[in-house]
Amino acid sequence: MSFDSLGLRPELLRALGDCGYTTPTPVQARAIPEILAGRDMLAGAQTGTGKTAGFTLPLLQRLADAPPASGPRAPRALVLVPTRELAAQVADSVRTYGRHLPLRATVVFGGVGFNPQADELRRGTDILVATPGRLLDHAGQRTVDLSAVSVLVLDEADRMLDMGFIHDIKRVLRLLPAKRQNLLFSATYSDEIRQLAGSLLHDPVHVEVARRNAAVEAVSQHVLEVPQADKRRVLSSIIRSGDWEQVLVFTRTKHGANRLTRQLEEDGIKAAAIHGNKSQAARTRALDDFRAGRITVMVATEVAARGLDIEQLPCVVNFELPNVPEDYVHRIGRTGRAGATGTALSLVAPEERTQLRDIERLLGRQVRRAALPPIVPPPPRPAGQSAEARPAAPPPPRNGHRPSGSGRPGRRRGGAGRQHSGQSFGQQPRG
Ligand code: AMP
Repeated sequence: MSFDSLGLRPELLRALGDCGYTTPTPVQARAIPEILAGRDMLAGAQTGTGKTAGFTLPLLQRLADAPPASGPRAPRALVLVPTRELAAQVADSVRTYGRHLPLRATVVFGGVGFNPQADELRRGTDILVATPGRLLDHAGQRTVDLSAVSVLVLDEADRMLDMGFIHDIKRVLRLLPAKRQNLLFSATYSDEIRQLAGSLLHDPVHVEVARRNAAVEAVSQHVLEVPQADKRRVLSSIIRSGDWEQVLVFTRTKHGANRLTRQLEEDGIKAAAIHGNKSQAARTRALDDFRAGRITVMVATEVAARGLDIEQLPCVVNFELPNVPEDYVHRIGRTGRAGATGTALSLVAPEERTQLRDIERLLGRQVRRAALPPIVPPPPRPAGQSAEARPAAPPPPRNGHRPSGSGRPGRRRGGAGRQHSGQSFGQQPRG
């Protein structure tokens, strides 16, 4: 199967070529022809399945096929998303895939200045990507005109409902023309999602790309049983002795994220926190630093991490387990994306056994227990340590390339490690 056979325009095929994508993912193969045909859609697809391109490509094509009316360009497509990170990423995708088409995309979300967004909307746009609250602010101030919207996408609709956006969504729906195409993407189907789909979609095509947990099957998952009070030392030790380079760590609270970030920094590990109390600029900077390898660890809360798209993230750590088992699946979906392998490590305190049991019930299987590696204290003088003195801390499989010359003193060599009695996670000879 190739993208040509899906009926996409040459400009879009060229953009896909620029990205190096040759084969549609299953959700793309199923969704693109149906969306091009104008059908409403209910799609069950998780992050990592290629769903964004699955709706963005046909959306762009439909807009390019029907040139805008003359006069000011009011948005003809509206994509509603739960978070600002996801909004920025979807807008990026729209711009990437639409780069050879004369279409404009605009993104609006809260937490940043209103007026620059209003100015951009005034200049006219074809595709508007928005979080519900800020969109309603613009509608209230009459800085956006939604009367020309002919395609509506609700992306990660389940998360929008979890975050309490249902009323905002309904208010937005009342501002749209009745005749339009509706696409609803959701990773899970709760009763509320079914209800929303029932009221929103007309004769929808159902696209279900994979079993609910299929995405997580690609991720190598491990549980490390460790008391809450020891988690930080254990994590810091594993990261240092395993020479981990890029790890996303989830904490339950913003406060916890800040504290852990500070402690890791004290241990000599470059870390940054990303959560709802951080300014957009701080988040963007943290994400850029993380992508560029200037920081090793990004500590994030659940909501902040939604929609983060980091290419080939090798490793995700649950510093604390989420209370909602589905969130575990979302979290570890950050790794092992689009065919790459990943590692997920959960540090589980005795008081978190109930959450672990619920997660395993959802997964339909037990998560492997890893042996606790010996804890290495942060080195006051790293130069004094030899490779052999280092214990075997298991490095995660690495998808990226180590920048040359990044070896550190005492970096573990392949085979130098000691065997654990339990199954260790992600062991991989290196050097
Ligand atoms: P998504 O599920 O939309 O978050 O996409 C997951 C990742 O897969 C993104 O980094 C995309 O850039 C990438 N991707 C999307 N479509 C393809 C494709 N057909 N081939 C390879 N990678 C893709």
